[in-house]
Parts: sequence; structure tokens; C-alpha cells
Amino acid sequence: MNILPRILYPMQMLPLWFPKKNISDLERSFSKFIWQGKKPRVKMKNLQLPVGSGGQALPNLKFYNWACHTRTILNWLHSYLKSQPCLWPEIKNNPIIFNTVKVWQDIMKCAGRRGFLSGLTPLTGNRDFLPGVQKSLFHRWHGKGIRVAGDLFLDNTLMSFNQLKDKFELESGSFWGYLQIRHFITSGKLKPTGEMPVYCDIDDFVLKMTNTRHLISKAYLLFCSVDHSGIDHIWRTWEKDLSTESIFMCNRLVEMQYKLLLRLYITPQILNKMNSNRSPLCNKCQREIGTFVHCFWHCPVIRKFWEGVARKMGNILKINFTKDPGFFFLGLPAKDIGLTMWGPVMEHLPTSLQEITFKGRFVFE
Ligand SMILES: [Zn+2]
Repeated sequence: MNILPRILYPMQMLPLWFPKKNISDLERSFSKFIWQGKKPRVKMKNLQLPVGSGGQALPNLKFYNWACHTRTILNWLHSYLKSQPCLWPEIKNNPIIFNTVKVWQDIMKCAGRRGFLSGLTPLTGNRDFLPGVQKSLFHRWHGKGIRVAGDLFLDNTLMSFNQLKDKFELESGSFWGYLQIRHFITSGKLKPTGEMPVYCDIDDFVLKMTNTRHLISKAYLLFCSVDHSGIDHIWRTWEKDLSTESIFMCNRLVEMQYKLLLRLYITPQILNKMNSNRSPLCNKCQREIGTFVHCFWHCPVIRKFWEGVARKMGNILKINFTKDPGFFFLGLPAKDIGLTMWGPVMEHLPTSLQEITFKGRFVFE
């Protein structure tokens, strides 16, 4: 539990760029620990997927490294937007800055933007965009709100000079500046016709994120969502084998079952023992002590849920269930159901399970 913070601290203090080899070495150590030196049974990439996508949310060190660099990127961008350049020319060859730029390139590559001009490309102080007309023109535009390439777009389409003039109150004589900037943007593969969003999700994130609270975890989740490598191929194989559609897979349900069996949930009663300021009462009915068995079985609010499950199952099997906590709560065999009854159960299982699963959220909310 405390391994990740120990790794994150030096990562935040030393903005390093990890080559693939270093990441593989670190992941190999993780794997060795998880599988006790034996041959891994599940790919590291699959273990790193979010629980809701079939993974085990094992930390992805590369994404955490990127998330640590995001703080620096965010500072640079927002300082530039506020006309407070924080990158002095004399420190441009600094290895630390080089690392962050390299990480940004890796992030853009992951977002499928490799070789494309970013919507966040600055239009002043940019070595790749050396103005041929009056140098001060783009500085004046910066003051009027045209600071990055994305500012020249409206609904993912490059604005005409007249549109820009009206929007940012530009001088009529600055048309040559517009032609130059248009050439720069079109040659940088930022399509002016709206085929591709000017800002990708990551651009949007760093642009809109002004508060650095929980920045690393938010950036980490974003990188996980942008990375499309997943276990879709496993679903597709099941769908093909069973000639069905919409296979549903979520380790969270399996995990929930283990947590129930091992009594891992922290109940209000335990919380009260840990901190006497917390109420020991059940947080659903607010009347009785929130013991484990009360929260999951005896609580009148939860009983309604189980009654719904019993009704649904009863309708399918045409029998009345005795409210047996062993069956409903722990999945033990029900006394009321003979083996011959399982045929219809299996037939209706997909729909009833789906319905019950969605209702199941109610238990924990
Ligand atoms: Zn209760």
C-alpha cells in the first residue's frame, strides 16, 4: 500500500524521463513480486487496466511519471497564457526541461498526435514560428487573446481573417500576419477544416485545469483512459465463440464477492471504533448499529433490495424463496431449488443478472 507513494515522491522531485528499458525493468520487479518469481499468468498490461475494464488497477509507472511531469507542463502553459514567461532563453538546454518536453512528446504519441501540431503551440517566442513581418504584431495579438494555435479556431475550423478581426478586434493592416500564421498552421498538419479536434483530451485537460489539487491522480486516470490497449480482444473472442453480443466483464463484482466473504468492508461500527467522532449507526436506516450483517442483510433498506432479487428469481423459477441469507448473501446452494430447476435459471440468467447487477449498486451507495 505504501510502495507507490515511495516511488511517486522521487518521481515528483526528479523530473526524469524513463526510457522504455527502465520502465520494463521496474515492471519486471513488480511482476517478480506479484508472481513470486514464477511465470506470470496475466499480462502486466492487463493487470494495469482499471478494475471496471477487467484489470486490477496495478499502478502504471509510465503514466504516473507522465502525471508528475504534467504539473510542470501546466505551470509553463498557464504562465505563457498569462504573459508570464517562465522559460528563460538561457535555460532552454537544461536537461530537466528537455525531459519534460520529451515526456510531452510521448504523451502526444500515446494520444495519436505524433507529428501533428498541438493546438497549444505558442505563437510568440516559438523557435519554430519565426515571424517574417513585424515581430511585435504577434505580441500585440497575444495581448488581445490570440496566444496559442487553438485560439485561431472556431468549432475546429480555422477562422477567416474577418472572423478573427471581429472576435479579437485586430487591426485591418495585420492581414499579412494572418497569412503567415495560416501557412504555419496548415504546414504543421493541424487540419484547418475540422477533420480532427484542435485540442485533444489531454490538451483540454492542461488548458482547463487551473487547480493543481489531486492533479497527479486526475492526470493518471486521463492517461489510462486515452491508452486504448485493453482486453477487448478477449471479449470479442467470447462473443464469437458464443455467437452473442455485449459480453460484460467487470472484476469489481468478483472483488466485491471476495470482500464480502472475507468481511473486508469497513462498517460504521468499525469506523466508530477507529474514530469515536464517527457515528456507529447504519448510514442507510440511521436507526441501528451498523454491524456487517446489519448493513448487508438485516437493514430494512437493504431488505427491500433482497426482496426484489427474490421476486425476480421467484418469477423465473415459479417458486417462493425462503429468505435464506446463505443463498442470497454468500451464494450457498438454496434448499428450495432442485438440480432440475437450474435449466430455466441458466436460460434467464443473463437478463436477470444484468438487472440485479445494476440494482446491486444500491447496496453500496
Ligand atoms: Zn440499517
